[in-house]
Amino acid sequence: MTSRVIPLIDSRVAMPPRAVHEYVETPAVGDLADKLGRPLRDLRISVTDRCNFRCTYCMPKEVFDSDYRFLRHSDLLTFEEIARLAAAFVRHGVEKIRLTGGEPLLRKDLHKLIAMLSPLRTQGGNELDIALTTNGSVLARKAQQLADAGLKRITVSLDGLDDATFRRMNDVDFPVRDVLAGIDAAAAAGMTPVKINMVVKRGVNEREIVAMARHFRGTGHIVRFIEYMDVGTSNGWRMDEVVPSREVLQRIAEEFPLEPLDARYSGEVAERWRYRDGQGEIGVISSVSQAFCRDCTRARLSTEGKLYLCLFAHQGHDLRALLRGNGAQGLTEKKIEEAIGRIWSARADRYSELRTEATPAMPKVEMSYIGG
Ligand code: SAM
Ligand code: SF4
Ligand code: SF4
Repeated sequence: MTSRVIPLIDSRVAMPPRAVHEYVETPAVGDLADKLGRPLRDLRISVTDRCNFRCTYCMPKEVFDSDYRFLRHSDLLTFEEIARLAAAFVRHGVEKIRLTGGEPLLRKDLHKLIAMLSPLRTQGGNELDIALTTNGSVLARKAQQLADAGLKRITVSLDGLDDATFRRMNDVDFPVRDVLAGIDAAAAAGMTPVKINMVVKRGVNEREIVAMARHFRGTGHIVRFIEYMDVGTSNGWRMDEVVPSREVLQRIAEEFPLEPLDARYSGEVAERWRYRDGQGEIGVISSVSQAFCRDCTRARLSTEGKLYLCLFAHQGHDLRALLRGNGAQGLTEKKIEEAIGRIWSARADRYSELRTEATPAMPKVEMSYIGG
C-alpha cells in the first residue's frame, strides 16, 4: 500500500505570503530577468481551486474531501482583477497566458474572461498566445462558446483510453467517452491542434502509452506524455512510480519509429518528436528525469491573486492586496508593474534541478490551487 503524506498544515498556503515591499530594486518594464538571467514570458492563471475530478496524483480524495477548505468566492480574483494583472504582465514581456486550475471550466462564464483578455493579444512585442488546460469533462458543451470568445488553443488532459483505468485515475468514475467528445468539439470549433496531456504513472496506466499514441496518430492532435511529479504534499509521490520519458519514447518507437524535432522557442516545456511516417508529432515533459529549470520563464498566479515563481514553491506574493489595498482602486498600474518587476528580479527558484529524496516532503502549495 502507498504511504501518503497527509499535510499537517494548510496545504494550499504553507507559509504566509511575503510582503511585496521586501524587495528593493525596480527594473525597467519589459526588461526583466531573474537572478539566473531568465526572462518572464509565461503566466499561468488559476481561475478556481475546485475540480470535479479527484485525480489520484493531484487531488486525492483522502485529502480533498468534504472537509477540505476551498477558497471562498470573495477571495477569488474577479475577472476585472485578472485582466488588470494580465495586462501588467504583458507589459513586462509575457507572451503566453494559460488559464488553468483546478478545473477552469467550472468557473462561471469563463468565456467572458477570455473575451476580456483577447485585446491583450496585440499589446506586447510579440502576439500574446492565450491557452486553456482542462480535464475536458464539460468541454463538449463549452468548446464553441470558448472559441467564439477568442480562444485558439486548448490542452485536454486524458490519462488513457481504457475506461476502467481512466475512471480509477480520475477517481470520480468519469468515462473516457465524454472527454473524447470534448476533444472532438474543440477541434470542430477550430482550436487545433488540440494538445492532450497524459500523466504516466508506473503500474497504473503504462499500458495506455502506446494505445494513446496509436489512437491519436494521424488526427493532428498532439499527445504529451508527462512524468508524474511530486507537486504539493498530498499525492504520496514516490520516485519508483515515475516512468522516465526515455522509456515512454522507447515504447512508442518500437511500434512507430520516431525522430526528434527542434524546440519552437527557448523555454518550451515539452520535447517534441515526430513519427517518421509523417503521421504527426508527440511531446514528452520530463521535469523529473531531465529538469529544465534553467530555461524556466513561467510565473503562476493563484486563484486568490498570489504570485508564485515555481510550481514547487511554498510561498506566494500577494498581488491581490495591491489591487484591493489603498482605497477602492488599489495601487496604480505603474506601482503594480513595479511590484511584479521587483518580485521577478529576486527569483532564484530551480526546484527540479535540486530534487533529492528529501525534497518531496518539503512544504509546497497544491497544484490545483497554484494552477498546473
Ligand atoms: N484540471 C485541468 C486539467 O486536469 O487539465 C487543469 C489543471 S491540472 C492541475 C493541469 C495539468 O497538470 C494536467 O494536465 C494534469 O494532468 C497535470 N498534473 C496534475 N498533477 C500532476 C502530477 N502530480 N504530475 C504531473 N502532472 C500533473
Ligand atoms: Fe482536477 Fe486537473 Fe487535478 Fe485532475 S489534474 S484533479 S482534473 S485539477
Ligand atoms: Fe520552473 Fe520551478 Fe519547474 Fe524548475 S521546478 S522548471 S523553476 S516551475
